[in-house]
Amino acid sequence: MPINIAMDGPVGAGKSTIANAVAARLGILHLDTGAMYRAVGLAALRAAIPPEDEARVTALCGKLAIGVAHEADGQHTLLDGEDVTGLIRTEEVSMAASTVAKYAGVRRAMVAVQQRLAATTDMLVDGRDIGLRVLPDAPVKIFLTASPEERARRRWEQLREKGGTDTYEQVLADLRRRDDQDTHREVDPLQAVADAVIVDTTGLSFEQSVEKILAIVEEKRHA
Ligand code: C5P
Repeated sequence: MPINIAMDGPVGAGKSTIANAVAARLGILHLDTGAMYRAVGLAALRAAIPPEDEARVTALCGKLAIGVAHEADGQHTLLDGEDVTGLIRTEEVSMAASTVAKYAGVRRAMVAVQQRLAATTDMLVDGRDIGLRVLPDAPVKIFLTASPEERARRRWEQLREKGGTDTYEQVLADLRRRDDQDTHREVDPLQAVADAVIVDTTGLSFEQSVEKILAIVEEKRHA
């Protein structure tokens, strides 16, 4: 029997790839909620609205249709029907996403879409506020983390593979800024909720991390 799984954690903890693998092994869909905040960030940048301008970003968000499509190669993110999957992974969009995600109006809109999606089918949902806000009743909650240095190293390697030229130090500084923004915002800051199992992937391989989470899911299912 599949179940809903909430997975939260900071940037670079390996959430997206680990969540994908865990969901595939369980035969359920994986919803990457960060991609939706990224789409809002992209829309603001395209409209030349500074991400810091809460009123204009919130008004813009109210007019956007943010959606996802699950296809054979994974989640595609849709902005007003346009597939923006390939456009939302830049560092500029990352920072914009983290900024627009601070706004209550933006969060309310995204949480509503996510809850609607998760209500239709069992899913593994990953993000920052899933255990707290999106799926507070999820039977399995995972908080995935790793040291900032390890997370920055992984992210730097990922970016380099895609031809990025940022230094490790720049990536680490960006990551610390995003961590700070995500954990100190007023609305639903990133945190490990009381009923989450904390999984620290520092020093664990990808496969070891996946196995560890599958073991937790198995244990919770039989609890
Ligand atoms: O997970 P990802 O790095 O793609 O998320 C981009 C940004 O969106 C994060 O820095 C975070 O600020 C925000 N986010 C959020 N709540 C979520 C998912 C992502 O605030 N559920």
